Amino acid sequence: MTTPKKGRVFSGIRPTGRAHLGNYLGAIQNYVALQDDYECVYCIVDIHALTTVEDTANLRQNVYDMALDLLAAGIRPEETILFVQSHVPQVMELHTMLSMVSPLGKLTDLPTFKDMVRQHPHNVNYGLVGYPVLMTADIVLYKSNIVPVGIDQAPHVEFARETVRSFNFRYNTNVLVEPEMKNTIIPKVLGIDGKEKMSKSLNNHIELAATPEETQKRVMEMVTDPQRLRRSDPGRPEVCNVFSMHKIFSPDDVAMVDVECRRAGIGCVDCKKLLAKNLNASLSPFRARRAELAQNPEGVIDILHDGARRAREIAEQTMVAVRDAVGLPK
Ligand code: SF4
Repeated sequence: MTTPKKGRVFSGIRPTGRAHLGNYLGAIQNYVALQDDYECVYCIVDIHALTTVEDTANLRQNVYDMALDLLAAGIRPEETILFVQSHVPQVMELHTMLSMVSPLGKLTDLPTFKDMVRQHPHNVNYGLVGYPVLMTADIVLYKSNIVPVGIDQAPHVEFARETVRSFNFRYNTNVLVEPEMKNTIIPKVLGIDGKEKMSKSLNNHIELAATPEETQKRVMEMVTDPQRLRRSDPGRPEVCNVFSMHKIFSPDDVAMVDVECRRAGIGCVDCKKLLAKNLNASLSPFRARRAELAQNPEGVIDILHDGARRAREIAEQTMVAVRDAVGLPK
């Protein structure tokens, strides 16, 4: 007997191409786990990506690679709806409707908008301002009542909740469901530089689908305790990103590394080789599944198309009710 699900979760992920460890630890592993308790709707947000991606030459490949990684990581498309944002055009229509109840001052006040302006000072387009409105449309179009968020995304979901209330109030309706936030502890995964969050744009990342050799090469480039200059110097695992990774990927070795690092019983080179070995062992099942899926690209595309078909069915039901509530001519 199947256990009844606790609600419908929605989350969107940007098509950044092949996923890295930061994507996996920060989002994808949570996506996989949520499937056990919730009905899940996961969307690869290609329209959102257009706000900052000017050259779209790789967009299709990046969407495909992200889908491949999600499926290889354990997204189950027979129960979870996995699809591409632009394949459900109703989201653009709802975005326009919601924009009429979205105060401009509130949008430009959001910390995420200010961050984007700092990061892209030469491309402050309307899409950036309207990003949270489109995100709200994504959430409510699929009647999702739960959105998993880390601390930095919380203002967006709060905005979505307010927008739903404004819409329902203005049109004297209750067609839109106010989503709840499901606070998620998203670990900040540092890149191999040991300073910045892992990110492709900073080229400090380790791809999930890298070969074992590539993975070892990246791990050997990782910055360690800057005060440990010689092999004979005791190290400080608490400030070392290699140790942070051991905590995740080396359950059988982490205690030993902690002790031996502090008394200079292990050198950083050996410590990194051990991490690379454990990381490769952890990622091996993912990589095998990914290679198998990659043998049949049409199968992956079919999964996305089937997800879009299921998503469109829910979306159109919502939009019929929305158009009616707004009073658009039939
Ligand atoms: Fe970091 Fe390992 Fe070197 Fe210690 S031995 S400083 S944990 S890399």
